[in-house]
Amino acid sequence: MIYMDHAATTKTVPEVVEAMLPYYTECYGNAGSIYGLGSKSRKAVIGAKETIADTLGADTNEIYFTAGGTESDNWALKGVYEAYQDKGRHIITTKIEHHAVLHTCEYLEKRGAQITYLDVDADGVVDLEQLKKAIRPDTILISVMYANNEIGTLQPIREIGEIAASCGILFHTDAVQAYGQIPICVSDCHIDLLSASGHKFGGPKGIGFLYISRKVRLHSFIHGGRQERGRRAGTENIPAIAGMAAAVKRACRIMEEKTKRETEMRDYLIARIEQEIPRVRLNGHRTKRLPGNVNFCFESVESESALIMLDMQGICASGGSACTTGSLDPSHVLLAIGLSPDSARSSIRLTLGEENTKEEIDTVVEELMRIVEKLRGIREM
Ligand code: PLP
Repeated sequence: MIYMDHAATTKTVPEVVEAMLPYYTECYGNAGSIYGLGSKSRKAVIGAKETIADTLGADTNEIYFTAGGTESDNWALKGVYEAYQDKGRHIITTKIEHHAVLHTCEYLEKRGAQITYLDVDADGVVDLEQLKKAIRPDTILISVMYANNEIGTLQPIREIGEIAASCGILFHTDAVQAYGQIPICVSDCHIDLLSASGHKFGGPKGIGFLYISRKVRLHSFIHGGRQERGRRAGTENIPAIAGMAAAVKRACRIMEEKTKRETEMRDYLIARIEQEIPRVRLNGHRTKRLPGNVNFCFESVESESALIMLDMQGICASGGSACTTGSLDPSHVLLAIGLSPDSARSSIRLTLGEENTKEEIDTVVEELMRIVEKLRGIREM
């Protein structure tokens, strides 16, 4: 098998599984219990928060565990909307956010929120002038993703944060694709809320966190016990928390080397596709993109068919976002960068990870050449 869908999810690395196991077997105590067994779990929670806070330049009590990126995004948007209605009901976001943000915005619109969805340019980058013009006296939140999950484009997060801060508006970033891949400092970028997810960087699924700056006032999101400072109740998922912390440590340790290698491999894959296959178009910014992200349109190729044929060769890739696979609607991200619905339906995303080799890339390119030629032949007959 050749796995090139690391933006959908990553393998839980052995070191992470090892870090999780004791919390299933010997140290299974409830972090809320006063006896020794419970305190081991409590220590794991505190230690994990310290690890994560360190990576962001944040404080330990600004990290809140959630069940992943989707919950973090929901909490950030719904939480700010609920807590800041005295200031206003206007939120600014972009047309290329993940559905965890966009569908939450739709939900809020039905409850009286006014949402501005910013355009992006042909590379998928937000226009800062349009952002400035969209700001109103009743704007309470700007939510712009750090890096796009489909086309990998990185946003000018620091500049957006500066604009938000200078207008006294809270700034949330969905960093699910960026956290663990590239260095992030919340104070440098004036980030008030940040969403991340464990399974995107070698951690377990179903665990993530929301960074909430201490200056943000949010009500409780899930009501119940006193966990997570009373804001997100429910017995903590200690094995997953310990696993995510181990994945964070590892991600930081290998980040420099991994980024260098993946960037080289990414550019090699892009170059080979452009050299070997005619009528292709790279989607997303050529350089301001995630190290492992490659996304191409293959003219006159139905990506669903190509993905099935790749799968038959043991190659895992994706068309558009993994979360929308199964729906034949063209990707909202690709439409937003100006592609026609037909071109959007002809896009394939290959996202690299640390285990991918140059030989695998060569195999994938060979298979793509064959598949694209075959599908074009059938379509253009
Ligand atoms: N935000 C982005 C940008 C994503 O790519 C994803 C998942 O693909 C999510 C949010 C949702 O994260 P999770 O799968 O942890 O719920």
